[in-house]
Formats: sequence, structure tokens, C-alpha cells
Amino acid sequence: MLEARTAVRNLHGYRPPLAGRQGLRLDFNESTIGCSPRVLAKLRGLDAESLARYPEREPVEGEVAEFLGLEAPQVLLTNGVDEAIHLLCSTYLEPGDEAIIAVPTFAMYAIFAQAEGARVLQVPSGENFGFPLGDLLGRISARTRFIAVANPNNPTGAAVACEVLLQVARTTPQAAVLVDEAYFEFHGETILNSTPWPANLFVARTFSKAYGLAGLRIGILAGDSGQMAMVRRVASPYNVNAVALAVLPQALRDQEYVRNYVAEVQHGRELLEQELRTLGLHYWPSRGNFVLVGIGSAHTKFIQALRARGILVRDRNSDPGCEGCVRLTVGSDEHTRTLIDALRDLVAQLGAELEVQA
Ligand code: PMP
Repeated sequence: MLEARTAVRNLHGYRPPLAGRQGLRLDFNESTIGCSPRVLAKLRGLDAESLARYPEREPVEGEVAEFLGLEAPQVLLTNGVDEAIHLLCSTYLEPGDEAIIAVPTFAMYAIFAQAEGARVLQVPSGENFGFPLGDLLGRISARTRFIAVANPNNPTGAAVACEVLLQVARTTPQAAVLVDEAYFEFHGETILNSTPWPANLFVARTFSKAYGLAGLRIGILAGDSGQMAMVRRVASPYNVNAVALAVLPQALRDQEYVRNYVAEVQHGRELLEQELRTLGLHYWPSRGNFVLVGIGSAHTKFIQALRARGILVRDRNSDPGCEGCVRLTVGSDEHTRTLIDALRDLVAQLGAELEVQA
């Protein structure tokens, strides 16, 4: 009988709750207003010929490299950051190797690492989800071949200084160190232009969040050109589809659109955090386009009550250290106002059941 590899049989797949997402989507950290009109105009103009061809990644990769201030061989476009993580795990992990992550964090690091047969060491985050540098360094061994850090982190919104991440990379030259900057635009700090660039450091970016293109699946993996040549070997030459490649230059050129949206989100994040304080709800200050809130045992009721008001948010109760937590995506001004109104209503309604701070 055909059997999947042991590592795969032991995997718990990641099934995001995608079904029935009707309403204001504040559950997946997507953009709530979508992409630049210039992207849509380009998309509408695509003809049959442009879809009949196999996609050509390199010219667009060149543009992206220039935009990032890097050389083209340092940059690989990927089918979202998800694929970037997958490729790194395929390139560097052998069965029995070790991967280290600080938890809670994005689920796909552990899944792709385990799929290669690696052992994943989960280091609990520090107080207020601070990056556990000492504990993480303490788990490094000769078998450590992959370390992934989301900066800012999902679902906590916590950020770590680039200098700390460079220290991790320098301490572990035998490991691919991924700094996942999926939420970079909302944070504003990047490790990308650090010099000298450690040969084992990789940086990922996505067009799924600030650029509003989660449905097109485009991300970036950047690294040392010698290492990236290895990663390229395991990537399909057609991993990014023709539509995504056709519109990406437009998305990059309309920086004003991205800047305006990011400014709205940053302002909304401030308003939301202020409101959470006023309502007495516990939250963790965030550098992303989302805020993690501690609701306590009424978290399911809270999520359902928001859903009844047409607002979808994400239950993070099962993430390590996140018991009773719910993650709220911050969108446009209008959408943040809608969320805040609903929160006021809910606190009035559920009152004492929520974990209101003294
Ligand atoms: N990294 C982090 C930290 C994320 O939160 C997400 C999306 N939730 C991703 C990567 C996935 O990005 P993409 O859509 O580019 O695959």
C-alpha cells in the first residue's frame, strides 16, 4: 500500500478557517481596501497571449531587486512567503536536523520544517511576547539548520531589533536564518539593507498585506547570491503566475497608494489600541496591521457576537501562550471605526464576561 513519508504522516496540516468569510474580513490580516487601481487596470488589459505563455520571472525580479536596493541574483520571487519558507526548508533541512522558532508565531515554519523530517524546537516567547534571545541561543546546536523569526511577529505584533536578529545569524552560521518581514510596511524597520549581509541570512517580504494582493500569491525571498542560487535550484521556474508578474511592476510603482494605506492602518492601530484601553480590554502593542487582544474564557462568545455584527476576527486561543486571545486586523479608517463601534457595543453587552482590566 502506498504510504506518505513518516514526516508527512506525523504532520498536522494547517487549515485556516476560510469557509463562509462573509462580512468585514478582519481575520486574515489582509488589506481591507484591496490593491492599487493601477494594478486592476493592468489586470483588465491582459490578453489571451499573455496567459498562453509560460511566465517569465527574471525581468520582474530585476525590477524588484532594484526597488529593494539589491542585486538581481539576491532576489527570488515566490508564490507568497509560504513558498519562500517551503523552499528554504527543502534547500537546507535534512531528516533529523533541527529548526528553532520562538512561539507563538506563524504556523508554516513548523509545518514545512517538519515535512522535511526536521525536529522543531519551540522556544516560548518572553514576557509580553518579547523575543527570547537568550533561550533561543541556548537551544542552538550543530544540528540547527533553520531558524525563522517573523518581524513583526504574527499573531503578537511584537517586533525585535534588527541587531538582535543579526546576532542570531552570526551565532549560527550553519543555519539558514529567515527574517520574515511580511508586515514590514506597517513597522517601518528592515534588516534588508544591513551590511555586511551574513551569508546565512534570508529576508522574506509579501505583497499579500500592505499591497492587497493576497489572492495573487506573490512574495520575495532575498539572500546572499550564492545561497540564493541553491534555493533557485529547488524552485519551479514557473512558480509565480503570469498575472502576478504582469501586475507587480504597477503595484511597486504606485508607492503613494501603499503609503496612504499604511498610514491609515498605523493611525487605525493607534485608535484601536486607545479604545481597547478605554474599554479596559487587555492587548499587546502591535507593529503589524493587527492587534492581539486577551478576552479570556468568553473569547468564543466575543468572536460570535462580532460575527453576528458582520465582522470576522481570528481566534488565537490555541496558539502557545495565547489562551483566550483574539486577533483583530486593522484596516482602513472606515473599517476601524466599524470595528470600534462594534467593540463598544459588545463590551456594553457582554460586560463582566470579558476579561476587563481593573
Ligand atoms: N508570514 C507571516 C508572518 C504571515 O503572517 C503570513 C500570512 N498570514 C505569511 C507569512 C504568508 O504570506 P503570503 O501570503 O505571502 O504567503
